[in-house]
Amino acid sequence: MELSSLLAELKPYQARLVAVSKTKSPNDVMSLYNQGQRIFGENRAKELEEKRDKLPSDIQWHMIGHLQRNKVKTIAGFVSMIESVDSFRLMREIEKEARKANRVIPVLLQIKIAEEETKYGFSIEELLSGFESQPPSDYLHLQFAGVMGMASLTDDHEQIRREFKGLKAHFHTLKELIFPTNDSFKEISMGMSGDYPIALEEGSTMVRIGSLLFGPRE
Ligand SMILES: *Cc1c(COP(=O)(O)O)cnc(C)c1O
Repeated sequence: MELSSLLAELKPYQARLVAVSKTKSPNDVMSLYNQGQRIFGENRAKELEEKRDKLPSDIQWHMIGHLQRNKVKTIAGFVSMIESVDSFRLMREIEKEARKANRVIPVLLQIKIAEEETKYGFSIEELLSGFESQPPSDYLHLQFAGVMGMASLTDDHEQIRREFKGLKAHFHTLKELIFPTNDSFKEISMGMSGDYPIALEEGSTMVRIGSLLFGPRE
């Protein structure tokens, strides 16, 4: 799909686009960059680092994949957002590396919403009890910017819709109970190539789209 048509679809919802460039070449990134796209998403720290070394410095790189704690330092100095924060141990590591880098890093809390078995992501209960013992104010170098989730890979649109509704409900619960005075806590990152129209209808503020823009991955 053309970037311009996709942006036209997002516009009525005021949702932003993260162009997911994992496995794609720097040239592929440049072709969207030249059309004005600035936010790109990658799921591996090493690939993120390599691309950022080759590409314009005003690109905003989002980490969207599971991040191992020993890889945080690879990206802490420049990453614009870590969308895939899925444990308190990872949060503490990001806090440590962000402090060293003298930065405040925007992060999203990845929440498990898929009915299918998935590996990564918090449950809402884990988040509520975790923040009770370690309040967000313990993390001076993290900016809690919202939530991220992935729906099941299924053709059942009603199931996908239910899962996105669940993420939105968790967002509101966290906003009310944990982040009532944090104006930065506002993003709901949901929707990929196969399900973004449903995500937009259910209140997505940020879609993460790869194959629809770049073509299928190897
Ligand atoms: C790969 C990936 C996407 C994009 O997937 P497409 O189906 O290619 O749009 C979105 N989010 C995450 C977390 C991903 O790993």
